Amino acid sequence: MSIQNSRLSSEDLEKNFSDLHPPFDHPEGALLEANRCINCFDAPCTKLCPTSIQIPLFIKQIASGNLKGSAHTIFSSNIMGGGCSKVCPVEKLCEGACVYNLLEETPIAIAKLQRYATEKAIDEQWKLFTRKPSNGKKVAIVGAGPAGLSCAHSLSLEGVDVTVFEKEAKGGGLMTYGVAAYKVTPEFCEAEVKYITSIGGIEIKYNQELGKTIHLDELRKKHDAVFLGIGVGIARGLQIPGEELQGVEDAISFIYNLRTSDYSKVGVGDNVAVIGMGMTAIDAATQSKRLGAKEVTLLYRRTEQEKPCTDVELELARLDGCNILWLSAPKEIIGENGKAKKLVCSKMKLGAPDASGRKSPVDTGETFELEVDMVIKAAGQIPFEDLVTKSAIENKEGKIKIDKSGKTNIPGVFSGGDAVNGGKEVVDAVQAGKDAAEGILEYLKKQTGK
Ligand code: SF4
Repeated sequence: MSIQNSRLSSEDLEKNFSDLHPPFDHPEGALLEANRCINCFDAPCTKLCPTSIQIPLFIKQIASGNLKGSAHTIFSSNIMGGGCSKVCPVEKLCEGACVYNLLEETPIAIAKLQRYATEKAIDEQWKLFTRKPSNGKKVAIVGAGPAGLSCAHSLSLEGVDVTVFEKEAKGGGLMTYGVAAYKVTPEFCEAEVKYITSIGGIEIKYNQELGKTIHLDELRKKHDAVFLGIGVGIARGLQIPGEELQGVEDAISFIYNLRTSDYSKVGVGDNVAVIGMGMTAIDAATQSKRLGAKEVTLLYRRTEQEKPCTDVELELARLDGCNILWLSAPKEIIGENGKAKKLVCSKMKLGAPDASGRKSPVDTGETFELEVDMVIKAAGQIPFEDLVTKSAIENKEGKIKIDKSGKTNIPGVFSGGDAVNGGKEVVDAVQAGKDAAEGILEYLKKQTGK
């Protein structure tokens, strides 16, 4: 029993990590689905989209054969509409709000239709936007994730020259490095970044890390404004004995390795325990299974009712054969020869609601043990507190404080997305980038009078 690479053949790995939601096989399929949409007035699907995509309009455009118009409608609201069609938890957003649910019928496949239009645009490099001529204003954006890229695109459209500083070797942020590969492939992520920047006026400088190779003061001196889209930081520790043992890893690093290496080179155990029940926990659990782990067990200290993941995500983990343990919290990891061997868990019960409004987990004093050779920690992420605090940016436990226009306490410095909210959906970050771009344009206007 140990962590090993290449448990499966390359054919099996290829199959296990192929696209989870295949696109329409034929254009007729998309047309049929688009024609089911009844173009609701005051469409509830649009209301639940954080970027307010005009969903009935783009679906109507597909139904009438105007695919370019459809892609334009989507990208006008959400320039990462392609990626979002693959990673958004649509069951709790647009598709969850579709009126067909009230009729107890299958909701319109909004994400699949959105993907249909946007993939075509990206594949064929349709030029749907033209930026205004350069107005000589310069903005630095730190982070080429969804918030940064969305902000960059909105600013560039208005003629601002944008330089994006990204600490990784590729753009896309969470989409490229933090989501299960079978939801959004590395090839798609690269193509999406290329498409967004093809508008011109956006230069991405890779391997540039704030506080190391670049510094906020310098960026401020050389640019008219700065947007910080730095996301959230390291994984939250479990604070239990044995966390230092070999075989204990955090989900962020595990998924990062999967996204940056050959699948056959990513080690996985026979018996994997994943702590947490958010999207990252599910992604880590299902991918462990798909790498060839024999047993994968997800542990959550509350009940199914309080789980942070969606029903669809939970079902995915179940379909992949993962075990689910509710009301279970890690207490200690016992090792042998420096390697994780057993996970001691506390049985929990629910007590009074805590600050989050959810019933709090209370230790019953009873324990049980799981045989493990790998423990993946997916109990949330901590903001870049050090980085933020050192920069003198007003923050709350590392989460950057902003006003309605995205402005921080430092003149000319804006922020948005996970760095501010502590971690939400990709689509929320896209909207935050758009909102901040509006704030920046307003700020630049006031500074220069044009
Ligand atoms: Fe179409 Fe459903 Fe949106 Fe109504 S709610 S416009 S049927 S997708």
